[in-house]
Amino acid sequence: MTVTDKNRNESPSSEAHPFQADVAKLLQLMVHSVYSEKSVFLRELIANAADACERLRYEAIAAPALLGDDPKPRITLRLDADKRQLTVEDNGIGMSRDEMVEALGTIARSGTKAFLDRIEAAQKDEETALIGRFGVGFYSAFMVAERVDVISRRAGADAAFRWSSDGQGTFAVSPVAAADAPSRGTRVVLHLLEDANSYTERETVERVVREHSGHVPVPIAIVDKPGAEAGEISDGAALWTKSKSAITPAEYTDFYRSVAGQFDEPALTIHFHAEGRQDYTSLFFVPGSRPFDLFDPDRKGRIKLYVKRVFITDDAEVLPRYLRFVRGLVDSADLPLNVSREKIQESPLLGAIRKGATSRVLGELERLAEKEPEAFTKIWDLFGAVLKEGLYEDFERRDALLALARFKTTGAEGWRSLKDCVAAFKPNQTAIYYLAGDDIERLKTSPHLEGFRARGIEVLLLSDAVDNFWVMASPGFDGKPFKSVTQGAADLASIPLVGAKDEPAPELQDTVKKFLVFVQSALGEAVTQVRASDRLTDSAVCLVASDKGPDRALEKILAGAGRLGAASKPILEINPRHQLIVALAALGDDQRVLKEDAAHLLFDEARVLEGDRPADAKLFSERLARVLEKCAGT
Ligand code: ADP
Ligand code: MG
Repeated sequence: MTVTDKNRNESPSSEAHPFQADVAKLLQLMVHSVYSEKSVFLRELIANAADACERLRYEAIAAPALLGDDPKPRITLRLDADKRQLTVEDNGIGMSRDEMVEALGTIARSGTKAFLDRIEAAQKDEETALIGRFGVGFYSAFMVAERVDVISRRAGADAAFRWSSDGQGTFAVSPVAAADAPSRGTRVVLHLLEDANSYTERETVERVVREHSGHVPVPIAIVDKPGAEAGEISDGAALWTKSKSAITPAEYTDFYRSVAGQFDEPALTIHFHAEGRQDYTSLFFVPGSRPFDLFDPDRKGRIKLYVKRVFITDDAEVLPRYLRFVRGLVDSADLPLNVSREKIQESPLLGAIRKGATSRVLGELERLAEKEPEAFTKIWDLFGAVLKEGLYEDFERRDALLALARFKTTGAEGWRSLKDCVAAFKPNQTAIYYLAGDDIERLKTSPHLEGFRARGIEVLLLSDAVDNFWVMASPGFDGKPFKSVTQGAADLASIPLVGAKDEPAPELQDTVKKFLVFVQSALGEAVTQVRASDRLTDSAVCLVASDKGPDRALEKILAGAGRLGAASKPILEINPRHQLIVALAALGDDQRVLKEDAAHLLFDEARVLEGDRPADAKLFSERLARVLEKCAGT
């Protein structure tokens, strides 16, 4: 009866394949999608067709015969209202049988995998928003089609194949007769669902194409009914070759969406032409939201490399990894067209482009930070954790990156620059102080900050995983070293307390001095030292690291990774002016058991304040019970 039924009876050589589990999940989502902007499917199919044309252009550099007598890339959309079909056809690279099974039966893109993970965790209503915001690829066709046929012939091959599926768990692949296939490239036939009928109307399709795909670098034509003449919708002129003044913001945004696979607005657009020793054009975008693959372990960038408008690869490292959030392309006039994708990475020409492009991106970020600080802090919010990787990877640009860096601090709300912090130095302050850890809320309440707060000294709160690494290796900013507040003696005595009169700190009472010695001997090997603290004002105790080597946060990371032996034991600092300490110090020798319990409990308290556990849970509870019993008078 319908085309669908006809296709279901495949030739005897047809093979049924199950979809990979992830694909089945994605399809489930597409088939049942209530997402209202289903038209994104067209953008995805056109993007794939354009990719296929660009890959052919690239392969044809080494093998010109692949182009045959049809050298001009083109994408053609065919509408057939009577059959309720929409066809997207390209004369690109095409797919062999195996490539079809691989490309249309599995999910290779890490971005799509990440999308699936996100959507698993998402609420139902958020789900549809996610589909709209992210490129979900070929399978989005099943939002509008009850069956999809993909008929393809690989460039240079005789055989052609049909992939066919209703998106319900399996797909079939079978050979097709030469006459039923494009002479080269891929034809995607959508058997539209009843409510997607409007995609057989010329106005609808034209509008969607102009809106979402107006800047793909391949011309797009439309045939609005069988037998009609093809009309051009888009000429495929490369946007980046036009001058900036000839491009509207909307055109930039469109292009950004098609090149970046992001569907938000770019936070910053950087379009420039470099001349001189290297002749190249760059069009870069800083996305307005975090791409899914930002923290993938491979930390790969996605900048596309073109040579004289021919797409070469998106695998070349055009920008350093700490700029991997930047999307877009570089089009070089100097690189040889026949450079192999494998060799390109080592090309000194690419090295020079990388250098120039990196400086340009950092320069534009600096300018933005100066001229539009709010727009810049939005970018920092999204990508600061990635940019900071450059602080230990790119020594040449470390100072530039430090100047860009923004921090949460104890000094003021919002983001602060190091310049702001140095300008707010207190008299006699010589170092930029920081506190590192993984939870900013816990950092804010850390006892280590008390003495600094009491003196109005601003402390950087570092809660990104990378912070521990760059800050240790950094020689400082503007001649001021970085210093952890959890490390060494705090050197705070010379900085006056806020609102205090200029009085020297009172001498320690003898009983307190003796108590410190007592605690030291009670704890024995567990600590390197017990000493009076000038960083504590409210809390009784805290742990600090010695002056040399890692600070407390890094010590804990290293210990967790088994990289730190017993060598690093903390120093226990005790607040000699704290009421509890003064009272404990006044206890007589007949209270030895209580004093010993107190010594251990104070040590455990300091550990708990850092987010750790008591040194020995059983002994801890026994000691606590003894002390409480004593209070309760039992
Ligand atoms: P992506 O385009 O990000 O790789 P898709 O789901 O859109 O993901 O497509 C999956 C794969 O299918 C592509 O990588 C490509 O190998 C293949 N493919 C899709 N459409 C075409 C086409 N028109 N021509 C050639 N290959 C295609
Ligand atoms: Mg795609």
